[in-house]
Amino acid sequence: MAHYPFSERADLLVLTCTHVLEGGDVTLVCHHFNDNTWEFTCGDTHTEEDAIVLSVGELCEMDPSLHLVCDLPVGGAATRSSRAHAWQFGRIEGEDFYPAADSRMN
Ligand SMILES: [Zn+2]
Repeated sequence: MAHYPFSERADLLVLTCTHVLEGGDVTLVCHHFNDNTWEFTCGDTHTEEDAIVLSVGELCEMDPSLHLVCDLPVGGAATRSSRAHAWQFGRIEGEDFYPAADSRMN
């Protein structure tokens, strides 16, 4: 197997969308706090019919730049305009975040 930087297993199943499977760029990555799930989508709004499940290893093979978001903490989100743009890191709005640096400051 190729070098695999995610702390999760390469066969970890993550939510993605048909647009990404059809060659669209992943522009939104979320690592959800509540259930520790990952989402790799094109960033558009989706219906259930657009949702598919792939392993994170497969996604990294399709787009090696996803390696750059492998240390996204739970509650974190990464966005970019396209595959040619750099990732911007932030938080998922309305979710808890770990490490909880904010609450430690109170
Ligand atoms: Zn999509």
